[in-house]
Amino acid sequence: MSKFWSPFVKDLVPYVPGEQPKLSKLVKLNTNENPYGPSPRAITAMQAELNDGLRLYPDPNGERLKHAVAEYYGVCPAQVFVGNGSDEVLAHAFHGLFQHDRPLLFPDISYSFYPVYCGLYGIAYETVALDEQFQIDVADYNRPNGGIIFPNPNAPTGCLLPLQAIEQLLQANTESVVLIDEAYVDFGGESAIALVDRYPNLLVTQTLSKSRSLAGLRVGLAVGHPDLIEALERIKNSFNSYPLDRIAIAGAAAAFEDRAHFQQTCQQVIDSREAVVTAMQGLGFEVLPSAANFIFARHPQRDAAAVAASLREQGVIVRHFKQPRIEQFLRITIGTPEQNHALLAALG
Ligand SMILES: *Cc1c(COP(=O)(O)O)cnc(C)c1O
Repeated sequence: MSKFWSPFVKDLVPYVPGEQPKLSKLVKLNTNENPYGPSPRAITAMQAELNDGLRLYPDPNGERLKHAVAEYYGVCPAQVFVGNGSDEVLAHAFHGLFQHDRPLLFPDISYSFYPVYCGLYGIAYETVALDEQFQIDVADYNRPNGGIIFPNPNAPTGCLLPLQAIEQLLQANTESVVLIDEAYVDFGGESAIALVDRYPNLLVTQTLSKSRSLAGLRVGLAVGHPDLIEALERIKNSFNSYPLDRIAIAGAAAAFEDRAHFQQTCQQVIDSREAVVTAMQGLGFEVLPSAANFIFARHPQRDAAAVAASLREQGVIVRHFKQPRIEQFLRITIGTPEQNHALLAALG
């Protein structure tokens, strides 16, 4: 703390990201990165930007990327917003769409950035408990609110809500924005982008950090009614006109255009996930049904923090949240078959 700090910054409670260790030998299964690497076409497109053109500012609107996303999802570019990682897109949505008199609703077990953004933007919130099986019941959200947000699949549980349930929620909740954070949807879910033309209060966010393996590039997006997108543009143009640089716009657009690489690598992750689940069940773990590139598991006889510490000593890092209801769970990213093998050997 310092006397130069404003009173506001003194009381901020920031998000704590998963560790990015400096040691490269570690089997890193703690932050849900994709082990397969980005599309070679994205790499080529980014290399092509490394020239004298970098003296010029990028396109403030990232039109090339908006078009690639619109083409991929069969929507109009005016329904697409792009930003510096989906965390930034989420921040703009909190700032521009959730600051209302009524509280924002999200699950008690969910992405831990949501309460942080509520603190940053002064948004009141209420958490809604997941059921005994750690599932979202959309009927529980049928109460006064200034917005609803949850990841689908949920994080850190990995559990998927079918599109039908999201549609039920949208039919019951028409007076506030429903934001579905689809950071992991490509690993087994169906995108709610299919519903944006019918529900003007639906905003869907996605990231290129997970399924497109570009966490280091920082690109995220939102799809929804042009009026919702305009709110995000107004915030963005009041904060940073150029959230995406030339390299990011080119690389992200090319990543969306390379469907073959995307589909193949997602399928590899899905296949590995099923193998890891089976093996962990064989070791006595209880594993929640996952539609993501990670699993959430607990062992009835082993303390989760102790297991995480032991794994770490063996060179495998996973994520443990010291939080009510889930302190006996570990969140484990699906890696390559070799990494998964190292995990299972260490657990054994
Ligand atoms: C990873 C993640 C994000 C953020 O992704 P970015 O890297 O900022 O694009 C958003 N929501 C959830 C639930 C995530 O797990």
